[in-house]
Amino acid sequence: MMASINEFLIIAGDGERKMIRCARCGFDLCAATENHKLHALMQEGPVQEAGPHVNPHHLGGDKFVLRRFYCPNCLTQLNTEVALRGEPVLWDVQLGTE
Ligand SMILES: [Zn+2]
Repeated sequence: MMASINEFLIIAGDGERKMIRCARCGFDLCAATENHKLHALMQEGPVQEAGPHVNPHHLGGDKFVLRRFYCPNCLTQLNTEVALRGEPVLWDVQLGTE
């Protein structure tokens, strides 16, 4: 049984041992019940790095940051999020225990 979170992250394993895995290199970041972003490498930068269309006039005084998350093993970018500067990492993928 395999599911994917996005094109770079898959849920692998079964029963109690589901893991969140890098789809590129097969590295297991953490148990599927954990926030994989806390186990990835994070780089935080200006939200404008997400693209030229993202807040080009710096509305809000750069309160927002773009966070990129990378596989610690192969450095593939796994995920991104836009968050308020200083806010804890979002947990947007939470899996219930089946
Ligand atoms: Zn990887």
